[in-house]
Amino acid sequence: MKYYSTHNGQEGVALQDAVIKGLAADKGLFMPERIEQLPSDFFEHIEELSFFEIAYRVAQAFFGDDVEASALEGIVRESFDFDLPLVKVQDNIYSLELFHGPTLAFKDVGARFMSRLLAYFIGREGMQQEVNVLVATSGDTGSAVANGFLGVEGIRVYVLYPKGLVSPIQESQFTTLGQNITALEVSGNFDDCQALVKEAFADVELNKRMKLTSANSINVARFLPQAFYYFYAYAQLKKQYPQGCKELVFCVPSGNFGNLTAGLFAKRMGLAVKRFIAANNRNDVFFEFLRTGVYRPRPSIPTIANAMDVGDPSNFARMWDLYGRSYENIRSEISATRYTDEEIAASLAECFRRTGYLLDPHGACAYRALTEELQRGECGVFLETAHPAKFKESVEAIIDSSLELPEKLKAFVAGSKQTYPMSRNFTDFRNFLLSQ
Ligand SMILES: *Cc1c(COP(=O)(O)O)cnc(C)c1O
Repeated sequence: MKYYSTHNGQEGVALQDAVIKGLAADKGLFMPERIEQLPSDFFEHIEELSFFEIAYRVAQAFFGDDVEASALEGIVRESFDFDLPLVKVQDNIYSLELFHGPTLAFKDVGARFMSRLLAYFIGREGMQQEVNVLVATSGDTGSAVANGFLGVEGIRVYVLYPKGLVSPIQESQFTTLGQNITALEVSGNFDDCQALVKEAFADVELNKRMKLTSANSINVARFLPQAFYYFYAYAQLKKQYPQGCKELVFCVPSGNFGNLTAGLFAKRMGLAVKRFIAANNRNDVFFEFLRTGVYRPRPSIPTIANAMDVGDPSNFARMWDLYGRSYENIRSEISATRYTDEEIAASLAECFRRTGYLLDPHGACAYRALTEELQRGECGVFLETAHPAKFKESVEAIIDSSLELPEKLKAFVAGSKQTYPMSRNFTDFRNFLLSQ
């Protein structure tokens, strides 16, 4: 299968090149030239399948032409050694818990798959030169990518994160690892980190001297596997509630919109989804786009749902492409909400008090959207993208009681932090990379 750039829509590259390059040469995002429809019998018995079986079937549809079957099966099996349970929160509202992986956030899914796929390509090609993964993070990407790639031979990872804008627990998850992982503390916000990474990819001379790739959700190997769990949510819903849900709505707490766009792919593949809701915090570029038809990127604003503090969501380019550059088409399947920190906190507290279910601030945003937007006859699944303990300080203040850290997080926090300070200036970053 070939992957084309959202900028020119033309000349396609092979999967391997799309994964290694991350971003197309013209700065567009890669898109698969076809989206395979899954046969109806797959959906008839889907509730009998495990997550592995579902993920492998969907992975074959995406990657089956380009990765040998036994290797692909191994990659899927190794990547997903944790569960992604669907939990009922209240009538018609379900939480798809995506935080049971090693760093307790949904990005483990894409990051673990991508690291293994990249290692497969490096091995298959017998590549000599080290591959450098550059990743900008607003909080959770860095830890998922760093842990996904930790100790993988032939790969070095550079994590760029905004100084003072990620939680101490998030920071510990990518600054204490050592080995092939280097953390850079950037004096700026997430958009500055993302801009440094994008500039590095566009720098012809730098790319001649080093092999660079991205592990942000712009990379197809991180982005596409996120479609797997939409099918699994559907399967679990069908199994737990055989009376069924005819009108399924997915609500996705969104930042760079990779997660939501993967859901759009699942729908194109035949999954019975009625519509999607993008839940935003005060970074409401997409919300404003749906209201006005004008896409206007803005600097991001810090919020308590900090992994969604994105002012220019990169996957908007994929959504725009997928819907044939039509505002009307996008609006027919996706709506959006936006909430202030106070509203997010109020929903988190209210849900906990009434149901005993503890949300994290990102999930709380999506939960609130479902409580407000769900119509009669619909049932809603929101993606619970991180464990609440990842945002310990905010969550404890909101519910006014203390939270026990899960064992996995305790281990990170106990490690010692090592980072390099970095300015927002590209020349400094470039010199740093070349000195490594
Ligand atoms: C990254 C992240 C998001 C946003 O996901 P996108 O794919 O960038 O839209 C939401 N919640 C959490 C906890 C995250 O880490």
